[in-house]
Formats: sequence, structure tokens, C-alpha cells
Amino acid sequence: MSAQAQSVMSEQERMRYVGPVLYIAGLGRSGSTMLECVLGSHPEVAALGEVLHLWDRGIVKDELCGCGAPFSACDFWLAVGDRAFGGWARVDLERVSVLHDAVDRHRRIAKVLSPIQTSNYRRLIRLYNDLYLRIYDAAAEVSGARLVIDSGKHGSLAASLANSDEIDLRVLHIVRDATAVAFSWSKAVHRPEAQSEEDALMVRYSSPLSSALWMLQNLEVEALRAKGVTPVRLRYEDLVAQPPAALSHTLKRLGLSSFRPAVEGRVQLRTQHTVAGNPMRFSRGVLTLRRDDAWKASMATRERRIVKALTAPLRAAYGYSG
Ligand SMILES: [Zn+2]
Repeated sequence: MSAQAQSVMSEQERMRYVGPVLYIAGLGRSGSTMLECVLGSHPEVAALGEVLHLWDRGIVKDELCGCGAPFSACDFWLAVGDRAFGGWARVDLERVSVLHDAVDRHRRIAKVLSPIQTSNYRRLIRLYNDLYLRIYDAAAEVSGARLVIDSGKHGSLAASLANSDEIDLRVLHIVRDATAVAFSWSKAVHRPEAQSEEDALMVRYSSPLSSALWMLQNLEVEALRAKGVTPVRLRYEDLVAQPPAALSHTLKRLGLSSFRPAVEGRVQLRTQHTVAGNPMRFSRGVLTLRRDDAWKASMATRERRIVKALTAPLRAAYGYSG
């Protein structure tokens, strides 16, 4: 961001949101978008989707918001951009990219979570966090919500945010059995929000790669404790088996009981301005929560064995057997 843009929106002018920010962490295909849809059905919640993708998929590629409008035509994001930065055009994307590389990477996480950081590195983390704080503040102001959700999933962004004293960060760690997750990553999934052929499908991973990512991503979330943030774990399987009980228990542990959505086996969805995420974010009407067990009938035994071998210690710790 340019110094000019900084001065336009100085700390004095900027409306600071002091409410909680709920960060949904975990590996993709673990039910994070469904969880965000369910939590976002509460009238006082603003679910923003995966905010870390806003810079590329929103500003650059102008992909579809969860409301169905292109990012550049969504009134919500236009208002958020104005309040946060004096307009999205004033954001220095090159600078965002440099800060992202310096802070928000798997390979940086030990440095970001370290109790010993140089003053220069602390400054980079602060500048990077400020981009997100501005968005959360503006989103809360524009929506009038009392809880903002970022379903960014990456432990590295949560680690960066955990360095900030200016954010009331709560982390919900969604976990799903590694075998089901690996099967999901092996499938071709269409991206309705894409604006070009090359972005038309979600990325696919082999079983060994998705297993490695499952271990890495979940361990990164566990590591947030180093910065005093205790992630509250929710298993996808428990969520779909008993939604009211699982959500009650989880939100209570997060200190967010007042945001419990009206959900039984089904939930009435609200339109949310999610900037990125799984195609489920475009769902409308009533969402029925049911367990997706397609992998049990379709996943090859060899693939299951690979995944189980590579993820055994953490699978057991999360209560997955067999
Ligand atoms: Zn929108």
C-alpha cells in the first residue's frame, strides 16, 4: 500500500472493530465452507470466505462473490474497499505479494511463531496483519455484524494474525478423516466463480501429496499455541452427525455461544459476500447437513493404505481408526 493511501485512511479516521474474528483453520476439503455457511446463517455474523485470496481472485481476476456478483460489482466489497483502503485501486498489490512471501508461507511459520523476532521482522508481520485488520474492521462496519468469519484455512495466516494485539482472534480447527480428504482432492471439481478457462477447475492432488498437506496443515494449526492461541477442534464427522450438539459445544469453547445458528439437520442459508472458497458458498435456500461418504465406495484400497500410512500418528490423535 502506498504512503498516500495510508494517509488517506489514517488510524484516527479508521473505525476500529473490537469484536471477535473467527478464523476457520484446517486443510481444504474438510468441510470448512459448509461450516462457514452454517455459522453465517446467524443474523449477526458476516462470513467473508477465504480473505487471503481476495487480492488475486477478487481484485485481479474479478471472480464471483458469494452473492453472485463479480467482486468489482459487489456493493459490499466496494464499500469495504473504500473504508479499508480508500478503494481497491489504491492497494499496492506488489507490496501485498512481498509481505505475503515474507510472512504467510509454510516455510516462514517457525519464524512467525517464534518468541524471538527482529524488530524489522515484527514490522513486516505488523504491516501484513494491518491489511487483514483493515478488511475485518471495514467488513464489520459495513455489515453491522458482531462476529466476522475468515475461513482462510491456512495456518500460516492464523500464525501471523496471532502476533497482533489488535485482534480478538478465535481459531476453529476443522478436521476430517485424511482418507476422505484425499479422495476429495483426487476429484475434478468445477469452479463456477472462474472468469477464465484456466481457472475453471479446482486443483487436484495425489494421495501422497494430500496426505503430506493434511499432516502439515493440521500441525501448523496445533502450533498456534506457541503464540497463546488455543485452536478449538471440530471434527467434520461430528458436525454432520449431530449438528446442534457439535456446534453448541464448539462455540461455547470458543466463547461465542451467542452466535449459535438455528440448525437441526438442516439450516436456512443467508446470502454471504464470501470472496473465495468451495463452490458450496453459492448454495441458496435450505442446506441439509449430511455426511459425504462417497469415498468409501469409490476409493481404491491401495490409495487408502497410502493415506493411512502417511497420516497414522495424527489420524489416531484425532480419533480416526480403521
Ligand atoms: Zn457480494
